[in-house]
Amino acid sequence: MIRFHVPPATGNELLYIQQAIENGTLCGDGPFTKKCQQWIEENTGTPKALLTGSGTHALEMAALLCDLKGGDEVILPSFTFSSTANAFVLAGAKLVFVDIRPDTMNIDEKKIEDAITLKTKVICVVHYAGVSCEMDVIMDIAKRHGLLVVEDAAQGVMSFYKGRALGTIGDFGCFSFHDTKNYTMGEGGAILLKDPKNAERAEILREKGTDRSKFLRGQIDKYSWRAYGSSYLPSELSAAYLLAQLDEADKINENRLASWRRYQELLAPLEEQGKVEIPHIPAECQHNAHMFWVKAKDLEERTALISYLRERDIRSQFHYVPLHSAIAGKKYGRFHGEDQWTTRESSRLVRLPMYYNMRPEDLEVVVKTIYQFYRI
Ligand SMILES: *Cc1c(COP(=O)(O)O)cnc(C)c1O
Repeated sequence: MIRFHVPPATGNELLYIQQAIENGTLCGDGPFTKKCQQWIEENTGTPKALLTGSGTHALEMAALLCDLKGGDEVILPSFTFSSTANAFVLAGAKLVFVDIRPDTMNIDEKKIEDAITLKTKVICVVHYAGVSCEMDVIMDIAKRHGLLVVEDAAQGVMSFYKGRALGTIGDFGCFSFHDTKNYTMGEGGAILLKDPKNAERAEILREKGTDRSKFLRGQIDKYSWRAYGSSYLPSELSAAYLLAQLDEADKINENRLASWRRYQELLAPLEEQGKVEIPHIPAECQHNAHMFWVKAKDLEERTALISYLRERDIRSQFHYVPLHSAIAGKKYGRFHGEDQWTTRESSRLVRLPMYYNMRPEDLEVVVKTIYQFYRI
């Protein structure tokens, strides 16, 4: 069987976990957590990164750091994971969904400004498949209207926009290190802070409302309850696993990119014949091969393609059902303007098997089977 996803392992995971055990403290913010945070800071250029228990938790922290009040509005795409939206609902905001662009499946920067009201406080962008949104335009809109920008860069670790790492362009960036992402710790994530002034508040929020982070650095001799917060930090065991992956990040990235380019090369003729559409990466984006998708003609053809592949032991997957059509999406938000692309394009998209060390012969079987489906 050709699996849709296989979590990466590069060799040192067990060794590092053993070291974490030998260090004698398994709770958060030990040496492995620090090394992972340092890696993120060095490789993205963010002044401050904090490891979290999930990408979802990073988003929740970002939403809380935005200081929203009841009725404040957050603009976001409807084509995203529930966690992007949940974070802002938990923080008391109303959701305003804006249409996506069909080429990248990212929020359409041209449709954002029209959705802004007196209540708008935040634009939350999602870099789908690790391909950047049009950040210069979005940051300019935010600046002119005095809005904060949160980047859901859950899929965008090691991706760049005009040379800047995703997650470092907006006020807050959120990474995921979930099992299904390019680099993993099973469940995990990170929040990136553009303004170091937010670091102290973020640390308190992450450490049950206490200043334990300062205490651990030896800056104070006891810690106490300072503000509201939760437990948003991962255990050292998870951080140890992640560090083994980050150590080999270039190797993982290059390997995934090679598979991605091979899909692109082999499927381009099928696109030229008008059978499917494949991704075209905007020139200003350097992506991380998080995903390779194809778009079938419509929902019916997509369903048939996924079944056809499954019957031949190949696992492919569709992606998000637009949030504005979900029960919670209707309750907590509204779609602004026309849904020109969100529903239509999301119902055509199929994600192909893609993971670190995917065997080239398996990739060719996937492609060959797609050609067979289209009788070519
Ligand atoms: C994976 C993902 C999340 C959630 O991250 P978890 O680590 O699974 O909590 C949020 N948003 C997007 C776009 C994602 O792909």
